[in-house]
Amino acid sequence: MTGLEKFDIKFVKGVGEVRAKLLAAELGIHSMRDLLYTFPFRYIDRSRYFKIADFEADSPNVQVKGRFIRFDKEGEGVKSRVKGLFSDGDRLMEVVWFSRGAKITSGLSTGKEYVIFGKPSNFKGVWSMAHPEIEIFDPQKPPQGHYGVYSLTEILRKKNLNIRTLRNIIRNAMLSREFSQIKETLPAEVISAHKLMPIGEALRQMHFPENHDMLRKARERFKFEELYHLNIHILRFARYRNHKVKGRVLPRVGEMFNRFYKEIIPFDLTSAQKRVIREIRKDMISGRQMNRLLQGDVGCGKTMVAFMTMLIAADNGLQACLMAPTEILASQHYETLSEWCEKLGLKVALLTGSVRTSRRREIHEGLLSGDINFLVGTHALIEESVQFRELGLAIIDEQHRFGVAQRARIWNKSDIAPHVLVMTATPIPRTLAMTVYGDLDISVIDELPPGRKPVQTILRYDENRHEVNRLIYSQLAVGRQAYIVYPLIKENEKLTLKSLEEGYRYACETFPKFKVCYVHGKMTPAEKEYQMNLFVTGEASILVSTTVIEVGVNVPNASVMVIENAERFGLSQLHQLRGRVGRGAAKSYCILMSHIKLAADSRKRLEAMTATNDGFLLAETDMQMRGPGDMEGTQQSGLAFNLRLASLATDAEMLEITREAAVQTLSHVPSIAHLPGEDTYCAESIRILNDEAALRFRNDRDWSQIS
Ligand code: ADP
Ligand code: MG
Repeated sequence: MTGLEKFDIKFVKGVGEVRAKLLAAELGIHSMRDLLYTFPFRYIDRSRYFKIADFEADSPNVQVKGRFIRFDKEGEGVKSRVKGLFSDGDRLMEVVWFSRGAKITSGLSTGKEYVIFGKPSNFKGVWSMAHPEIEIFDPQKPPQGHYGVYSLTEILRKKNLNIRTLRNIIRNAMLSREFSQIKETLPAEVISAHKLMPIGEALRQMHFPENHDMLRKARERFKFEELYHLNIHILRFARYRNHKVKGRVLPRVGEMFNRFYKEIIPFDLTSAQKRVIREIRKDMISGRQMNRLLQGDVGCGKTMVAFMTMLIAADNGLQACLMAPTEILASQHYETLSEWCEKLGLKVALLTGSVRTSRRREIHEGLLSGDINFLVGTHALIEESVQFRELGLAIIDEQHRFGVAQRARIWNKSDIAPHVLVMTATPIPRTLAMTVYGDLDISVIDELPPGRKPVQTILRYDENRHEVNRLIYSQLAVGRQAYIVYPLIKENEKLTLKSLEEGYRYACETFPKFKVCYVHGKMTPAEKEYQMNLFVTGEASILVSTTVIEVGVNVPNASVMVIENAERFGLSQLHQLRGRVGRGAAKSYCILMSHIKLAADSRKRLEAMTATNDGFLLAETDMQMRGPGDMEGTQQSGLAFNLRLASLATDAEMLEITREAAVQTLSHVPSIAHLPGEDTYCAESIRILNDEAALRFRNDRDWSQIS
């Protein structure tokens, strides 16, 4: 807590009632702390004069000192412009005015020394600047340092609150008595151990940097601060849960598990699957609640691990549930599990949004009486009305659609919190695993079942369509099946359906001997199921769909995945889609269809897909290219943290360092329920941690109620 949180912004010199309201409404600035933590998003360097020879393609705005040599008018009418030839003593550049050039240049003279300030651009080797700021060079006035540029809104500008005003307000705040008494937001021992810039100095350098080096140090401090408190928050949450939440002990691996393993399971487990089951077993007898993330690339066999974990629950007389993000996936899990459960004499039920009321009532009763052992379903199964006799285990498939809050809701379904296993096929870069999923232990299946041939991925353009059709045909002819996927066009649902319909018709015409079915998000669950079933049973050879099939669908006989307008998909989505094929023993193909004219980053994405089948590598590439903000899961994670300066894509090292620091700090804090003042040794540090947590993680209050 800086001590400035309570200081109303309206009392800062130059603000007042009206501007205070504006700043609050437009930028969320209420207190002096908010104001000072509103950092520039870039800086203008007026600390030195640049030479034209030093310009670079991506130079920011720079200032150059020199003389105009002459002015020329070029072109006629709307295309007319005025050009000035400018020399810095060594080199020449052009200064261009597209409007009002004559007027501006009439006030300038050749021979006088000027300082011009603007963004250089290069065209065919000639540097130029359009509409720069121009001042007469004054030898009495030295270069003026770095300026912060803040992002303001149109409304602020209209009300005369521009960047210069904001800068002055910040300067005034820094001259206040309150600012001179500012308190640290990091524990003293952390500051000294990591040689961080103290808060007051760091704020000053962020807004009015003396030089690059000081600015870098200040930014580093705030990145550190941000990630450190995030790590503390995550670690405390996990610690709180371990401390407060008792775990059921499931000591028996009994009849069901062993019978399934010896008699029913249709293949040998991979050694990765075995290892993960051992890790899960360990959690289940630890007396602590299991909170485990199971990561494994598409097709690695997570469902099997899930089911065998459910059998352990059954062996200990407890119920288990398996939650999936879509109805299609839930019913598919249900089908798979039903077959096995029947052989074991266990009862499994399916609960989705489209289950009728009467059936629903039956299920509710069966769950309460304990008659139903396993429940498979969608979101529907976290509803209040769904109660179990004794729920021992909850499994969530495809984590990226569920957040912390939803996970927590399952806990309330039982007096003792059930063990929680979260499964995801979206490979998660390490930084995300440490933050978004930072409260979970992690298991990885890093091995595919034997005999899988890697999917061959190729990039093709519309003009190659005949060749692509031949490939599809050759696969259909030997009895295989094919997916053809169209992108969801977010802005225009009609367009999505149109392209899907056209695609459906095209497939029917092109492959008249084969049955084609189709699925999209706007169908009723019954229609969807009917169409999906045609494909799952093999009656239809081609499935034309939108991305509803992205997650989980398992048709091992399918060997071709055609992705239309592949450039419209993100990397992780493409990888998920590709994972739908290559599930059987046959060689499989993923064909990325695209326009020949591709934006550079789209091309990079598609080429990354053709280069590797490794989901983790792609996840890292994805994060580097897009930043983690767009990554699926970050928004829905429920962690609701908002990084202002640090980036999960580029600050991995800082994240590791701050994790270490957070672990170190917490090792001195005897219990998380610890209140300030109870322990003189680290009372001040604990106060800081508590205060910052309350300020930074407002949205997560409900975490503390989970018990
Ligand atoms: P995912 O991890 O993507 O959910 P699934 O659990 O759907 O993968 O498994 C993909 C396919 O691999 C399924 O057809 C499943 O029966 C099969 N499978 C799972 N484990 C093994 C194994 N150890 N050996 C052979 N096939 C396996
Ligand atoms: Mg799966």
